[in-house]
Amino acid sequence: MKDKKLSVVIPIFNEEPNIELLYQRLRQVLENIAYSWDLIFVNDGSRDNSGNIVKQLREKDKRVKYIEFARNFGHQIAVTAGVNHASGDMVVIIDADLQDPPELILDMVQKWEEGYEVVYAKRKKRKGETWFKLWTARVFYRLLRKITSFDIPLDTGDFRLMDKKVADNLRNMPERSRFIRGMVAWSGFRTIGIEYERDERHAGETKYPFKKMLRFAIDGITSFSYFPLQLASYLGIFFSVISFIAITVVLYLHFFTNKTIHGWTSTILAVLFIGGIQLFTLGIIGEYLARIGTDVKQRPIYVIREKELDD
Ligand code: UDP
Ligand code: MG
Repeated sequence: MKDKKLSVVIPIFNEEPNIELLYQRLRQVLENIAYSWDLIFVNDGSRDNSGNIVKQLREKDKRVKYIEFARNFGHQIAVTAGVNHASGDMVVIIDADLQDPPELILDMVQKWEEGYEVVYAKRKKRKGETWFKLWTARVFYRLLRKITSFDIPLDTGDFRLMDKKVADNLRNMPERSRFIRGMVAWSGFRTIGIEYERDERHAGETKYPFKKMLRFAIDGITSFSYFPLQLASYLGIFFSVISFIAITVVLYLHFFTNKTIHGWTSTILAVLFIGGIQLFTLGIIGEYLARIGTDVKQRPIYVIREKELDD
């Protein structure tokens, strides 16, 4: 029964030492499923030899498909391009660094056969990550869950299997700042998680330094919540009430007692404090405005230099 197909989407950014082994392990796993399959490698502007390695694989095995961006567009955009070009009845997203064990795909396919439309992999443990990354990720997912009105699964990356319907739905979401795990959760569908232990990166270094992680977190929040904007109003109300009480106290002291409060420090501190909050809230508005800006420009989400997708 090879009438259905599974497509695997793999974003790559300078993953030279990992591609060959990833291919071997994926192949071993996928030989065991009852469907035909292909691998869509999206080269996100790698500056090493990643592109050529994929092309060499393709020479021997036409199930290897190749898309190359004209520059580095970022992980989420690379995944988007892969999903857009995936023709499978199931689409799996997996990292190239073997942190996501390919063997888990078997369990995912089984869940799909049971009728689930999204099977995500939930990290029970993460090996070889800094405590800083673990902790910030933990806090981020819990915060995000608090301020969104639908369930984004905790501690989940993009490693998942999606039914064609889910992938089609992603293709119809035109937003340019993309937070895919949120977009999938937002769209609903019958979803289930399976737990796994996240391995260490096989070789190379993380392509997500702190700056990119922060950008990613802000995209996640601004994509799915207006809470930060409302925060400005809450802060405003809070400080108005405080200052109203303070004014009453000061006036009382002035007119009805002979005590007066003096001192520059308190004045300056209050000014700095409120100034900080004003800039902070202005920055929040800026983030949302920037999102609207990028979407209004209607530029393509990515630019492709070359693609080889034929069987
Ligand atoms: N990646 C990408 N473009 C980027 C950064 C990362 O395509 O700008 C790919 C990378 O090659 C890997 C996946 O996204 O396959 C996840 O990246 P990484 O393993 O560095 O992230 P981490 O696991 O450290 O969070
Ligand atoms: Mg990784």
